[in-house]
Amino acid sequence: MPLPAACLFDLDGLLLDTEPLHSEAWQRAAHSFGLHLTGEQLLALRGRRRLDCAEQVRSWIGQAGQVVPSVEALLAVRQPIAERLLPSAQPMPGAVALIAACRARGVPMAMVTSSSRMAVALKEAPHPWLAAIGVRVHGDDPALAAGKPAPDPYRLAARRLGVDPRACWAFEDSQAGVQSALAAGCLVHVLVHRDDRLAAELVPQWPSSCRLVDNLSEVVLAD
Ligand SMILES: [Mg+2]
Repeated sequence: MPLPAACLFDLDGLLLDTEPLHSEAWQRAAHSFGLHLTGEQLLALRGRRRLDCAEQVRSWIGQAGQVVPSVEALLAVRQPIAERLLPSAQPMPGAVALIAACRARGVPMAMVTSSSRMAVALKEAPHPWLAAIGVRVHGDDPALAAGKPAPDPYRLAARRLGVDPRACWAFEDSQAGVQSALAAGCLVHVLVHRDDRLAAELVPQWPSSCRLVDNLSEVVLAD
């Protein structure tokens, strides 16, 4: 198999182990408005933009019969919790080596994240190895019409690299992200988290065109 034209990486839960921290921040924010989020609801928030998540949580708060806060009020509770938790995120196993392998083989790279530019800056500060990924598509990117699960973020990343998205490998861990990358035509590698496997009934059925990996160290770039 030839080398991909480019590797397009999700950030949260793929390169950095931020998802448990994001979940905790949403859980604590929802709790202060009278809602306990289920495991299924927390999975549904993964990979989506903050404002999209906030609207979803507001709707669940309303369905639970509680007084629905404004987006601003909800995020005002969540933001300080997230800012305190996220800088402690560790690299996902195999992530540092995979980025180094792409770099060594001259495979172009982009980060395709639903996180805002500011949130990425906060999370990546302790991780200088992420600087090797120079091209970025953020959730608040001015050139982005729609976020994941729409195909726009992956299409935009490929356009910025000057490659065809159908010749790219995408790396994702969330339902919204996988849908986005598939819709853009990428070959999608799905990182399946161990806690998702344990909660097997919650694991989405990925299309057979996806490559499933338990660990990024399983990914082999062809010669
Ligand atoms: Mg993710």
